[in-house]
Amino acid sequence: MEYNPTFGSWTSQIHSSPEQQKRIQTAQSAKTTPTSVNKETQTGCFPGSGLEVYQTTLDSCTCADFEYRGLPCKHIYRLAMECELFPGNIEQGINKNVLDQSQLTLEEAVEAIENLSEDDQRLIMGMLGDALYRNKTERIIPAEKAQSLLCCPLLEAQEPTASSLLRRYRKKELLQCLEAKKIAGYPKSATADVLRLWCEENIENPGDVFPKAYAFHFADVVQKVIRKVYTYLNRKFRWESIYTSSMEEIRYPHGAQPEEIVVIVTRGEDGKIKMVQNGDPSVYHFPEDKVTELLTLYGHNRCLHGYRLSPGESGEEKGDCYESTSGSG
Ligand SMILES: [Zn+2]
Repeated sequence: MEYNPTFGSWTSQIHSSPEQQKRIQTAQSAKTTPTSVNKETQTGCFPGSGLEVYQTTLDSCTCADFEYRGLPCKHIYRLAMECELFPGNIEQGINKNVLDQSQLTLEEAVEAIENLSEDDQRLIMGMLGDALYRNKTERIIPAEKAQSLLCCPLLEAQEPTASSLLRRYRKKELLQCLEAKKIAGYPKSATADVLRLWCEENIENPGDVFPKAYAFHFADVVQKVIRKVYTYLNRKFRWESIYTSSMEEIRYPHGAQPEEIVVIVTRGEDGKIKMVQNGDPSVYHFPEDKVTELLTLYGHNRCLHGYRLSPGESGEEKGDCYESTSGSG
């Protein structure tokens, strides 16, 4: 016998169509978390994409999907699941619409970045690379270096777990801390890993023995612009290399492209063909986009008037478009 659950005034058959199955699937996601649910009246509220709030019962919803189709929308399914009237593995979290409304714009994210020291900016560039391409979302940073990062809206900090805190320290540092705090019984000549394990098992609160640190990860509010922030920092700091035929390294700013050569052919009044060549492939430019606009705005567009490749120069001094204020400061 088939199990056909249903709720409200719906017949059980309607839930099996692919269109409804899709809604049943999204209903379970954290992205469909309701603002509130009243299990007694079997009603709920869900954040809408604008300022509106969807009012949902088991039989109706004020969202466009229900108004258009007259069949259960993801909100109705979610409500039924919250009331335990319909099977579903529901995740609680931040509703997608709430998350969208709180997202930082690229301008806000770059402003926050530019408020940090260059060291911190480079650190964030490394963290972004880890998060985007190496699936490494957490970075443990000692408290004395974390002060300005704690105020950065792109990041969130929490207490690191004992094992991630201990992994930060080398054996020598671990031994120094243990000795300083007069802790007895640790295996002095063991490997770093064994020593870390001993600390984890025998020290109740590693935060009291080892220097305080924070575990940083990127905040949800930066999700939408995270890749563009990474592009911004790469264009600001990173170099790429090409090599001349004599294997001389020439560097240019990451993300920059050489000028295209355009040949214009015209026939003059005298009937002779003239060829004019425009563009210089040894001059590099950043793409014309929002990221480049922001680099220019903050004075970090290394290709502002074109970056000219110059063999024999390290690139770091020459070609950088930073204004040099020649002494007077
Ligand atoms: Zn709805």
